[in-house]
Amino acid sequence: MLSHLECARCGLRHDADQPQNLCIECASPLLARYDLTHVRKPTSENSLWRYRDVLPVRDPDPAFSLGEGMTPLVPLPALSRALDATILMKDESLIPTGSFKARGAAVGVARAKELGIEGIKMPTNGNAGAAWALYAARAGMRSVIAMPEDAPLITREEVEASGAELRIVPGTIADAARAIKDVDLFDASTLKEPYRIEGKKTMGYEIVEQLGWRVPDVIVYPTGGGVGLIGIHKALHEMRELGWIEGPLPRLVAVQSTGCAPIVRAHEAGAAESTFWDNAFTSAFGINVPKPLGDFIILKAISETNGIATAVDDGQIAADRAECARLEGVFLCPEGAATISAVRKLRENGWLQADDEVVVLNTGAGIKYPGVRL
Ligand SMILES: *Cc1c(COP(=O)(O)O)cnc(C)c1O
Ligand SMILES: [Zn+2]
Repeated sequence: MLSHLECARCGLRHDADQPQNLCIECASPLLARYDLTHVRKPTSENSLWRYRDVLPVRDPDPAFSLGEGMTPLVPLPALSRALDATILMKDESLIPTGSFKARGAAVGVARAKELGIEGIKMPTNGNAGAAWALYAARAGMRSVIAMPEDAPLITREEVEASGAELRIVPGTIADAARAIKDVDLFDASTLKEPYRIEGKKTMGYEIVEQLGWRVPDVIVYPTGGGVGLIGIHKALHEMRELGWIEGPLPRLVAVQSTGCAPIVRAHEAGAAESTFWDNAFTSAFGINVPKPLGDFIILKAISETNGIATAVDDGQIAADRAECARLEGVFLCPEGAATISAVRKLRENGWLQADDEVVVLNTGAGIKYPGVRL
C-alpha cells in the first residue's frame, strides 16, 4: 500500500494523498514508497494491474484499463547466435499507443484522477504526449500537450485525435515546456510527477515474473529521461525487500545515441550528474534528452549494479534494426534497435560474456516511425 512520497535527493517526506510535483525543498523528483508488509503475489489479471499492491492507485477501476502491460519476453535465438550472446527481448511494441509510455500514462492518469486532478499538461518528444493524451481521454480528463515541430507525425495525430489541445512549437522539448509554462493545469512532465515511474517499473516486475521469479544477468535500456531504468531498478529493490528475489541485481545498461549521450559522458567521467548536451540530435527520438532531470538517480542505479552507460551511433542503430528484422522477423523501434547495437558493442569489447543472460527492451513499435532514416 502506498504510504508516502520521498525525495530522491534529500529524502524529505511528502504527503502522497495530495497532488505533488517536485520536492518542495530541493526541486528533485519524488519516489513513491509503500508499506510492503501486506503485499500479495500478483493477481491473474493480464495487465500491469496484476501488481496492484505495489502500485499507487488505491482503488484501480478495471474499466479504465486498455490492457497495458504483460508484454511478451521473446528469445532472439538467431541474433544471439550472430552476436555470440544470449538475448531475450521484452517487447513493448504490443501495448496500447504502440510504446511503453502507456505504462506510465495508465498509472499516472489513474492516480491523477483519483487525486481529483482535472487536467494535465506536458511537453513531449512524441510518445509520452500521445499516451497521456489518450489515457486522459479515457479518464475524461483535459490535456494540453506541447511538441517540437519535428516530433514524429503519428504521435501528433494521436494527440489531435484524442481531443487534447496540441501546441506545435519550433525548437526542442525545452521550448515546448516554455510554451505551456503558464497553462493552469497539473504538470505531468517527465519525473515532475511521481507516478509515471510506478507504471514503468512494472517492466521490472514482469521480466522477473516471466523468468520464473529470478533475475537476468543484464538489462539493457534505451535511456532518454531514464524513467524506465529508474523504475526497473526501483522494482528490483522492492522485490528484494519483498523476498521475491535474492542475490545480486542485474547489471543495468543505459544506451544512448552518440548524438545525445549526457549519461554516458557523466558515467565515464565518474560524475554524479550530467551536463547539458549541446545540439542534441538522434533519429531515435525517444532518447533525445540533453539533460535528464533524474540523471543522478540513473547514474547511481548504474554504478550500484556494476552496470555501464554506452553510446551507439545512428548508422549502427539502423544496421541493427535491419539485422533484427532479417534474422528474427522483429521490426524494432530505433530506440529498441539501439539496445542491440549496445549488446554488439559490449560483446565485442568483452564487457558482456557469451553466457550472460541479457534482457533488452524494445520500447515501442517499429511501425510508429514511418520514413525514419537513421
Ligand atoms: C520515451 C522513450 C524512451 C526513453 O524512455 P525513458 O524512460 O524516458 O528513458 C525510449 N524509447 C521510446 C520508444 C520512447 O518513447
Ligand atoms: Zn529534496
